[in-house]
Amino acid sequence: MIALTGKVALVTGAASGIGRASAITLAEQGARVALLDLDEEKLQEVKETIMSSGGECIAIKTDVSDSESIKESIETISSLWSQLHIISINAGINGTFSSIEELSPEDWTKTIDTNLTSTFLTVKHSIPYLKAQGGSIIITSSINGNRTFSNIGMSAYSSSKAGQMAFGKMAALELSTYGIRVNVICPGAVDTNIESNTFRQEDKLKEVAIPIEYPNGNQPLAKRSAKPEEVADLIFFLASDASKHITGSEMFIDGGESLL
Ligand code: NAD
Repeated sequence: MIALTGKVALVTGAASGIGRASAITLAEQGARVALLDLDEEKLQEVKETIMSSGGECIAIKTDVSDSESIKESIETISSLWSQLHIISINAGINGTFSSIEELSPEDWTKTIDTNLTSTFLTVKHSIPYLKAQGGSIIITSSINGNRTFSNIGMSAYSSSKAGQMAFGKMAALELSTYGIRVNVICPGAVDTNIESNTFRQEDKLKEVAIPIEYPNGNQPLAKRSAKPEEVADLIFFLASDASKHITGSEMFIDGGESLL
């Protein structure tokens, strides 16, 4: 069954990792997909992948932390396809790992703006186009949003992820009036560029404070990181009518990592 025929989806962070997999899955399920990311070259690769399988999509270079940039992109989508039904928010960075004492205010702001302010801006500018017919917003946060076991040196990242969880609940309540559902997903380690970047900074993490084992492989279910496609399946579920009575939830997708 093609579950999303007739739906229009906007996917941020679509050039890589979870956003890329989400865009491909939503397109396979019949949605027309708008791919938003800063990285034009990689966006093009995703666009070609979707189109070569018969999917319909457009790619728009967007800085989601910039209000005008995301607003203009959403206006472009709306002028092309009139409606908007699904918003999959994935753009993000993990920023610089550092002790709080050494973390610069600029690095703090960059991480919060890229991960959290962008979430607010994407939702805010989408509302006018979702209001008439309702829709589904899926925010990709992280298990780091409410746990500390892997967070040492990651105060800005973890704060941005906790902020997304709180924002998701507020948005779910406020937008329920319009039949707009908002859910937050919290992956553990996923095999993407951001995860590689985490490992590149692993020495820095260890140097900051208490020695820790970053929990790659510590996912009890499979002893490996998740694949982006596995996270995309959850995004698809939350985008589809199979989840039509679910809003305001936080769903962990971590192979049990957060149980440790
Ligand atoms: P990724 O690095 O593969 O993809 C992130 C994408 O966001 C990139 O294509 C990047 O260009 C884009 N991006 C960054 N800043 C942007 C901006 N200002 N405007 C537009 N696009 C921008 O990483 P990923 O793992 O796919 O991350 C997606 C989300 O999943 C992030 O929010 C991340 O925090 C979250 N997450 C990832 C993991 C993991 O282990 N990979 C775990 C938990 C949560």
